[in-house]
Amino acid sequence: MSSLNTPNMPLLELKSVSKTFGEVRALSGLDMSIAPGELITVVGPSGCGKSTLFNIVAGLEEPDYGGALHFEGRSCHAFELLGRVSFMPQRDLLLPWRTVIDNAILAIEVEGMPRAQARAMALKMLPEFGLAGFENQYPHQLSGGMRQRVALMRTFMFKRDLMLLDEPFGALDALTRTMMQRWLLDVWQKHRRTILFITHDVDEALFLGDRVLAMSARPGKIKLELPVSLPRPRRPELLTDPEFIRLKRILLEAIEEESMKSFQATEARALGA
Ligand code: ADP
Ligand code: MG
Repeated sequence: MSSLNTPNMPLLELKSVSKTFGEVRALSGLDMSIAPGELITVVGPSGCGKSTLFNIVAGLEEPDYGGALHFEGRSCHAFELLGRVSFMPQRDLLLPWRTVIDNAILAIEVEGMPRAQARAMALKMLPEFGLAGFENQYPHQLSGGMRQRVALMRTFMFKRDLMLLDEPFGALDALTRTMMQRWLLDVWQKHRRTILFITHDVDEALFLGDRVLAMSARPGKIKLELPVSLPRPRRPELLTDPEFIRLKRILLEAIEEESMKSFQATEARALGA
């Protein structure tokens, strides 16, 4: 589990990673690296390959021949990452017939921890995830924000070197979303995890990230890497800070250019059809 063998050694590196689905080139020559303890955000227009990148790093999808993955300095296949990462896909995937607590322990229970022990562990974590007193409720009895916190708690409980989140707050209203971002930063600082966070929201990417990676339109690759030297803990006022706005302008410019490209490509196809 130790990722501190050599200082500055990336936890995970992707080198020239591509992914093709039949005729569709989803990713092409994508390079990125994540250092231990970092919170990296990836932002890009819809359809640029964010979830494809997520699936590769989660070990669910192999990249095309020619690209390389390195975990803790060692070359590996994507499937070998399966045991090393915990992930929360775009849909929350709570089981409707399981209570909050039993949904939260699902991953560690499947991994073999006895249910009683897992439940005791989860009970202690509930307050931190804003779920105290809700342990016996079912998913349909919860708000959207609470459901996402149950899914996040499950991901946190499944302790791995790297945590992957694919647009976890994408379906929430703006206010709940802001609360969830602040809350995620709190838990992240307390638990010191390495996080790769995928979003299409520029504010969210900047507010959360140590670095923001902006993806190009499909086929996706990293178009811009932006270090975010804003102080932590990040406060809501940050959104109007001149430095935040300066970084946001740089990011928006990069992404707008890409969104325009994919929009024009869609229009061209529509006209041609
Ligand atoms: P994003 O998450 O950025 O919206 P995705 O990674 O989901 O983008 O998709 C990128 C492109 O790859 C899209 O054109 C999508 O239709 C295509 N794609 C993704 N997964 C598959 C798949 N399993 N089979 C075929 N095409 C896929
Ligand atoms: Mg996606």
